[in-house]
Amino acid sequence: MNSVCIEGGCLCGAVRFRVRSEPGIVLNCHCIDCRRATGAPFVTWAVFPRQAVEWSGPAARRVPWADRLRLSCPQCGSPLGILPTEQADIVVLAAGTMDRPEGMVPACDVWTQDHLPWVPLATNLPHHVAGLTVESAEPARA
Ligand SMILES: [Zn+2]
Ligand SMILES: [Zn+2]
Repeated sequence: MNSVCIEGGCLCGAVRFRVRSEPGIVLNCHCIDCRRATGAPFVTWAVFPRQAVEWSGPAARRVPWADRLRLSCPQCGSPLGILPTEQADIVVLAAGTMDRPEGMVPACDVWTQDHLPWVPLATNLPHHVAGLTVESAEPARA
């Protein structure tokens, strides 16, 4: 066991999570679905082994969209994460909902074909025109 503990939650504080694992990958997603679902120009996501994530508070609202389940707070609507499928062994959490998002450093930009021209892209990061699927991301060892 390691002592990693990443905590976060929604705007109103009803839904909280605690993760006992480093992220497998952290990426910036510029896709239109993430933009619409969050209202942000792009979203920084971090992928974790599902069993390393403990939730508290009311169950997250699940919205099925494009073969994924988008998770949000049932009270305040904050977008919290994505489950690739109901049975997935990973969960993707929005870095912006974490108490210390500065620790989530993106490794790449994905869906740059949908990237807004006024969002600067880091030139030192790999860019993927379409998605790295979250399913292909290596989960960290819990
Ligand atoms: Zn909330
Ligand atoms: Zn996306």
